[in-house]
Amino acid sequence: MLRTPAYAADKAGAPLKPYSIERREPGPHEVLIDILYCGICHSDVHQVRDEWGGSIFPMVPGHEIVGRVTETGAQVKKWQVGDTVGIGCFVDSCRTCEACRSGEEQFCEEGMNATYNGYERDRKTPTYGGYSTRITVNEDYVLRIPPNLPLPGAAPLLCAGITTYSPLRHFGVMPGAKVGVIGLGGLGHMGVKIASAMGAHVTVLSHSPAKMDDALRLGAADFLLTAEQNAFKENARRFDFILDTVSAKHNYNAYLNLLKRDGTMVLVGIPEPTTLSAGSLVMQRRRLAGSLIGGIRETQEMLDFCGEHGIVADVEVIPIDRINEAYERMLRSDVRYRFVIDLASLKKEAA
Ligand code: NAP
Ligand code: ZN
Repeated sequence: MLRTPAYAADKAGAPLKPYSIERREPGPHEVLIDILYCGICHSDVHQVRDEWGGSIFPMVPGHEIVGRVTETGAQVKKWQVGDTVGIGCFVDSCRTCEACRSGEEQFCEEGMNATYNGYERDRKTPTYGGYSTRITVNEDYVLRIPPNLPLPGAAPLLCAGITTYSPLRHFGVMPGAKVGVIGLGGLGHMGVKIASAMGAHVTVLSHSPAKMDDALRLGAADFLLTAEQNAFKENARRFDFILDTVSAKHNYNAYLNLLKRDGTMVLVGIPEPTTLSAGSLVMQRRRLAGSLIGGIRETQEMLDFCGEHGIVADVEVIPIDRINEAYERMLRSDVRYRFVIDLASLKKEAA
């Protein structure tokens, strides 16, 4: 076993603090990865606070991991020592169900093995995420990072990038489509960059007036301040597609009314439940859908797309001892636009 420094929360809502975990020596099909950077996702905050229920403690969050392969198991074919790689939201799945065979491992019928706040295939060994210095993962659940992308900005692609790329592709957003992105945070700002690169006409819908200039700089063609009195009335039936990335409770009906006839709104944010009125859908034959990260094949496709278009997240790199402050700032919508932990700080702290 490989004793490995980490940061963990020991119970729901507790601050994260230094902790020590064991990583296994790589098995025949596994690689050991030295973690360089790990993004902080709002899902980390939800799960540490046990807002979705069933959280497993102690919890070492982190599912936007980039690092270097330092050891390979005897039968590993895909990776070599020194490769720059990524790990996203899951580290394994059953591989045999219909979802896994279709490359949609995130919907594995047995349940994917989440990178943290989950269990390994044995269903009893807890998984620990990227707020740590190394991780052992099966070679099939490792992604290749395009060599032209700066690593701190590439880390958030492993969750925020794929979570926004996948629904844009799945629901067939075309060049010229009128796309609204609700919430300019980690997911939202990736949605803006990716949808713009796909040729869509993107409008940011935000409750933060100070984010307008950034929205336009990131590639949006327009900015709509949702706090403004007439915003919803004046923009009724404007969009073909809306991507909702908001992490806090909000009124879906108000946003659905911004869709054209036959328009689609996709939820990726996972706040507390709220009510939906049938009329918001019925009146213009609108659709409301959800989407969860993406499979391994599509995640690699997204990384390659970002490599070709030179897309990375706008990041604020922090040492690991500033995690709790970063969580507080995310809760105030004060993130520009992803916090990323530099794990060199943890290696130094633990030395
Ligand atoms: P984030 O960086 O904190 O961004 C969330 C944004 O939502 C904020 O920046 C803010 O944007 C907006 N917002 C927050 N509170 C609001 C409020 N009270 N009213 C209106 N808008 C508000 O979070 P994230 O990491 O992007 O994650 C967003 C959500 O997606 C979370 O619920 C997370 O768990 C979920 N998620 C889902 C998946 C999936 O696979 N479906 C994957 C990753 C994350 P403005 O300031 O611009 O309004
Ligand atoms: Zn995430």
